[in-house]
Amino acid sequence: MTFQFNVISLHPKSCIVEDMSKIIAIANQKGGVGKTTTAINLCASLALQGKKVLLIDADPQANATSGLGIDPNSVQSSIYECLVDEYPLQASAIDTCVEGLKIVGSRIDLVGAEVELINKNDRERILKKLLTADDIAKNYDFVIIDCSPSLGLITVNALTAANSVIIPVQAEYFALEGISKLLNTIRIIKSKLNPELGIEGFLLTMYDARLRLANQIYEELKTHFASMVFNTVIPRNIKLSEAPSHGLPVILYDPESRGAISHTQLAKEIIAKTHR
Ligand code: ATP
Ligand code: MG
Repeated sequence: MTFQFNVISLHPKSCIVEDMSKIIAIANQKGGVGKTTTAINLCASLALQGKKVLLIDADPQANATSGLGIDPNSVQSSIYECLVDEYPLQASAIDTCVEGLKIVGSRIDLVGAEVELINKNDRERILKKLLTADDIAKNYDFVIIDCSPSLGLITVNALTAANSVIIPVQAEYFALEGISKLLNTIRIIKSKLNPELGIEGFLLTMYDARLRLANQIYEELKTHFASMVFNTVIPRNIKLSEAPSHGLPVILYDPESRGAISHTQLAKEIIAKTHR
């Protein structure tokens, strides 16, 4: 299958921020491509590099919340209360097992938020307003938003609030399927809601260097998106899939693993891009 992508208008030039927090959404409407794994482990690695980080779990599946060892049912004020009742984000942010990393958790009731928000004024900008109102810029170097596998209103809120997007791409058949739709959504949000939005990078996940297919997909990504593809590639690594069941990011679960090393590399690549 041949894919055509128009990405010129999405170059990440505008993603560099100097004295404020950088807000990055991790999005791909394709399910199971590694969004949450990237969110948890990138956040933990950024925090271990000395950055102050806020992770926002914007998915009703609440995998980022439980993956950091927090029972979603125990979360008092989740992203649901923030979006629907406009609770402050800062007051909803709770500590995690990683120093320097806080999370605004999620719960299954977030599925209802899409419908509850539909009649609100400026419903696409609720998260952006919450991030501005709380002066998050002073409290965090990075805000990372883990999106659900959908392009619904909550993901639109995330993309409207973000400076940039990380697009995880699984090194598998049909890896690029659906990317055109995602890029089109990003382009529409950029033109109508968030002119600053850029692409932080395409991130190849679950990469197995022994497989010809995985290498082909990497080449294909490079052909289409060139410098927008992260140099860091996330390998398929069992430690990455085990760590969430222990409620830990991989860097605490097994710091020597290839999964941990690659996420530290990714954090460093992003810090270098951000020019702090
Ligand atoms: P969803 O679309 O449902 O939110 P997702 O895009 O967030 O999914 P993950 O939950 O991060 O995807 O990953 C899907 C599954 O693949 C999980 O079981 C996870 O542990 C596993 N996984 C993700 N990345 C890797 C990796 N690099 N190596 C091994 N397993 C991985
Ligand atoms: Mg997920």
